[in-house]
Amino acid sequence: MMKKLKLKWKIVLWATAFMIGLFVSYNILQYFVINSWMIHYEEQSVEKKMTTIQNYYSNQKLSSQLIKENETFVKSINEKSETIRILDKEGQSIIAVSEEELLQIPSHLVQNEQFELVKSDDDRLLIYRKPLVSTSFVGTIEIVRNMEIFDGLISQFGFVMFLSGIGAVFLSLMGAFFLSKQIVSPIQDISKTLARIKKFGLEERVNVQPTKDEISELAIHFNELMDQLETSFNQQKQFVENASHELRTPISVLNGNLMMLNRWGKDDMEVLNKSLASSLKEVDRMDKLVKDLLELSRLDSEKTVDIAFPLISPKKIIEKVVSDFEITHPEFDFSFQLYDDTPLAIREGHLEQLLTILIDNSIKYSKDDKRVNIYYRQRKLSVQDFGIGISEENVPHVTDRFYRVEKSRNRKKGGYGIGLSIAQKLMDSYRGSLVIESQLDHGTTVTLQFPRSL
Ligand code: ATP
Ligand code: MG
Repeated sequence: MMKKLKLKWKIVLWATAFMIGLFVSYNILQYFVINSWMIHYEEQSVEKKMTTIQNYYSNQKLSSQLIKENETFVKSINEKSETIRILDKEGQSIIAVSEEELLQIPSHLVQNEQFELVKSDDDRLLIYRKPLVSTSFVGTIEIVRNMEIFDGLISQFGFVMFLSGIGAVFLSLMGAFFLSKQIVSPIQDISKTLARIKKFGLEERVNVQPTKDEISELAIHFNELMDQLETSFNQQKQFVENASHELRTPISVLNGNLMMLNRWGKDDMEVLNKSLASSLKEVDRMDKLVKDLLELSRLDSEKTVDIAFPLISPKKIIEKVVSDFEITHPEFDFSFQLYDDTPLAIREGHLEQLLTILIDNSIKYSKDDKRVNIYYRQRKLSVQDFGIGISEENVPHVTDRFYRVEKSRNRKKGGYGIGLSIAQKLMDSYRGSLVIESQLDHGTTVTLQFPRSL
């Protein structure tokens, strides 16, 4: 049954039950402490009185007659709610003094002093008996105290405690309500938000309370998580949109070429050759795009490359890449300066890929000055060109996927805007950095800084 209750009611129930338990046990304890203290106090006072009486009689030649004559003494020390009796050796009372009506409790003789607590009707009676013995007399003194005043006090006290107990339970009920509201409502908020997200999408967020407690922390973390999810979801969407957009152009060019071939190309050699050449170019572009996309998604899935590669010396690889470019682009003037050959912990293929992306850009975005400088020094690889440059506001974006500074012009040059984003990802996975310095119309230097190997 408890399991089915809502959290709010569980808290209220537990707090209240706990409070009631606490109050009841506190009151019981209090009753016992007060009761035993009171009885102890009464016993002491009765004992004192007993001593007074005994002292009074000890100096005299004691007899029943004498005791009767001295009744005024006993009367003078008798108090309210108290009875004093003196019994002879047969157990008959010689005197019995009481401000109240005579107490009807049986009296008897004793050998030794003794206390007794008896109940008569509604009252509790404390009885103290002590032998009164001298050479001429044997008897018993009996003092009876009615505890009614004290009992009345205790019952009144109990009543007040009961009332304040109810008050306390009521207060703790309110407190528990308040507390459970504090705890439960933010949780409900989160749960409602989750339901809304299921229904309406990732934009929904939890209201964060201005308090700094664990629950508001939970809400903050939850919102941050949702932010991340939303961003990555949107990125994925953007990625797919961009990729399909990029694929559309080559496909429609191919389609046009094939239609042309189909109609006229069978007989016209010129059309045939032109269409085939153009189609092959588009297929090449598509091939490159698909390879790049695959590379990107592969880099996405393996977050950090395992850095425990054997160290390689970069010199040979850089020389090889540069000499490949020299062959395919004889109109360019490449210079490679190696200040040292500090080894790098990187897969050879990745270094090749990075350098190819950078030199490819330098060639694509060159102007009349066709120099490309490559430097290597202390895990720092730079590629410098003197081409069109990148404006300041574009520099932070060129490593974004599909980002091209001038969309229309760059498509003619064959770029998809993926090269630098692959380079950036690769550098991230090696925990290195990619820094772009550029001046519009003057040229660009891209520097790869590799980390010390682990
Ligand atoms: P690809 O995917 O074929 O590399 P891309 O070269 O257009 O296409 P990135 O290499 O990512 O893509 O470069 C992004 C953009 O940054 C380019 O489109 C270009 O506008 C700009 N850019 C990159 N390198 C340079 C450079 N060296 N000089 C001037 N602009 C550059
Ligand atoms: Mg490029």
